[in-house]
Amino acid sequence: MTIFDKIINKEIPANIVYEDDVAIAFHDIAPQAPTHILVIPKKRIDQIENMKEEDKPVIGHLFHVATVVAKKIGLENGYRLIINNGVEGGQTVFHLHIHLIAEREFSW
Ligand code: 5GP
Repeated sequence: MTIFDKIINKEIPANIVYEDDVAIAFHDIAPQAPTHILVIPKKRIDQIENMKEEDKPVIGHLFHVATVVAKKIGLENGYRLIINNGVEGGQTVFHLHIHLIAEREFSW
């Protein structure tokens, strides 16, 4: 269990921008840019490295949801999608998530 299970189960509040049977997207509590949204699967996959063959549709769905959310909130000039994998990849919550970050300059 991680804090994200509590968000999925509505045990703690989050600013949810999208939800369906497979995924949920909500604003990051400590945004690194004017727009910083997390897209996560409802199924707990701890990190991208541990995805299984059977998870391929779920992962594809997450990226699709990211594009749906980006359109919904009007990000017309681009955005960045990031997955941190493992401690040395900067991952702190071990429930797979895509960061959707936008509306600031990126240097690389
Ligand atoms: P990671 O470092 O694992 O790639 O990203 C975890 C993200 O989850 C961080 O950006 C952090 O700010 C966010 N986060 C951690 N706890 C919570 C929470 O309780 N609510 C929300 N909305 N975001 C959280």
